[in-house]
Amino acid sequence: MSGCLCLPKKKEAAGKPSVDVPASSLLQKQKPTQPPPPPPSKSKSKGMDAVERLKNGFAQFKAEVYDKKPELFEPLKAGQAPKYMVFACADSRVCPSVTLGLQPGEAFTIRNIAAMVPAYDKTRYAGIGSAIEYAVCALKVQVLVVIGHSKCGGIRALNSLKDGTPDTFHFVEDWVRIGNPAKKKVQTECASLSFDDQCYALEKEAVNTSLENLKTYPFVKEGLANGTLKLVGGHYDFVSGKFDTWEPKTDMDAVGRLKSGFEQFKITVYDKKPELFEPLKSGQTPRYMVFACADSRVCPSVTLRLQPGEAFTIRNIAAMVPAYDKNRYAGVGSAIEYAVCALKVEVIVVIGHSKCGGIKALLTLQDGAPDTFHFVEDWVRIGYVAKKKVQTICASLSVDDQCSALEKEAVNTSLENLKTYPFVKEGLANGTLKLVGGHYDFVKGVFTTWQP
Ligand SMILES: [Zn+2]
Ligand SMILES: [Zn+2]
Repeated sequence: MSGCLCLPKKKEAAGKPSVDVPASSLLQKQKPTQPPPPPPSKSKSKGMDAVERLKNGFAQFKAEVYDKKPELFEPLKAGQAPKYMVFACADSRVCPSVTLGLQPGEAFTIRNIAAMVPAYDKTRYAGIGSAIEYAVCALKVQVLVVIGHSKCGGIRALNSLKDGTPDTFHFVEDWVRIGNPAKKKVQTECASLSFDDQCYALEKEAVNTSLENLKTYPFVKEGLANGTLKLVGGHYDFVSGKFDTWEPKTDMDAVGRLKSGFEQFKITVYDKKPELFEPLKSGQTPRYMVFACADSRVCPSVTLRLQPGEAFTIRNIAAMVPAYDKNRYAGVGSAIEYAVCALKVEVIVVIGHSKCGGIKALLTLQDGAPDTFHFVEDWVRIGYVAKKKVQTICASLSVDDQCSALEKEAVNTSLENLKTYPFVKEGLANGTLKLVGGHYDFVKGVFTTWQP
């Protein structure tokens, strides 16, 4: 076993036997020689209950933003027409709504470990496939942006994976291996660099791999050929406070918007709050793991005022959590595993929302009819149990009212599915983990929470 890359967390937490495997730097949140980072982002330190914290955040957002800007929120009640689809890491420090100042309605947002986009694979990656398909074919987004970031735990995990050694996690290695082509390139071209410098290069190179992978989706390929779609790579460096973008065929307007959003964030937030951002440069200790829909109107950093460092955040179509399935759902699985076993989050929150396109798609699916999409139906069927329940109990309601009921019931299905992950089950049994359901109604301006 390598001495320097010690694992501060017990492997058994992942529900796997502790075999003698080389320790990876995956779980290393800071160098052992450094003192543990202060946890400024944990409101726990202020003694506030975890659910109260969410409610307070929403009340603040409601009073200071939602109620004050009807010109922004009224049109969004009818629908979303985001210009961007953004892929960002689930890392609690890098929400693009915060760092790029993206407003409600502007960006359909996917967040997963290391902002990775796998190549087209109908069997294994319906989560991300359905999101890309929905964004490109239904929402007609114009720009796909993949954003890497400094000190990315997923990228470190990828760079430290040894070829041929057995996986120590259920999902994590499998997921980050999507970036293998980038890793090979960096290890060849940057062989003389230190591990940390290789990681920095890999943060950007993995974005290039994701951009290449995007081109394997037929609807993306078509949009690129038609000129209706653009690809942009980005990298947010929160240590030096920089944001880079690149891509040969770039629409300057679209990129300019991102750059000016970042400049504003840098001047008005990042530079003004060193007490918040300095400790986050050495690691993250988020209290929450949040699942929210990719919908451009529902970013939880905005609606719940979650601060950088507070919430490890996954965003996908309809905020769905599938049951444990190593072969089909490494994207979500790796994120839950990392959040629970490595980051030791205390609360997992699944948040549905009003007028959810994914939920409507689920409700209107006809049993036995052939799928018309590559991925979408397949993904939303994760909520099938909830659908059957709503259709039975609310049979007399209109489709719209059934949708409202299903938005909440699908959250319950996801909460149930969470319990199928051995590390979640263990955390619940130990009392170290709590599950919370939530629903954001942007038509009425209401946020509801409940505990299963
Ligand atoms: Zn990351
Ligand atoms: Zn939605």
